[in-house]
Amino acid sequence: MKPCLFETFFEINAQGRRVLICANQRFNQQYVSGSKMRWRCVKRNSGCRACVVTVDDVIVKCGEPHNHR
Ligand SMILES: [Zn+2]
Repeated sequence: MKPCLFETFFEINAQGRRVLICANQRFNQQYVSGSKMRWRCVKRNSGCRACVVTVDDVIVKCGEPHNHR
């Protein structure tokens, strides 16, 4: 695991769901397991495989790089 060096924070989207912002990229919550959450890039429908794992809202893992800017 490598630490995430980018600024991260959370927003609430129009549907009232939390969105994670990391390095100016947005991630939708994929699933929750206790305090652990997995987030997927909002552009996954465009083939982006980037994902992030948080525990207690702290990023513990950054997955694949984005395939877009
Ligand atoms: Zn992406």
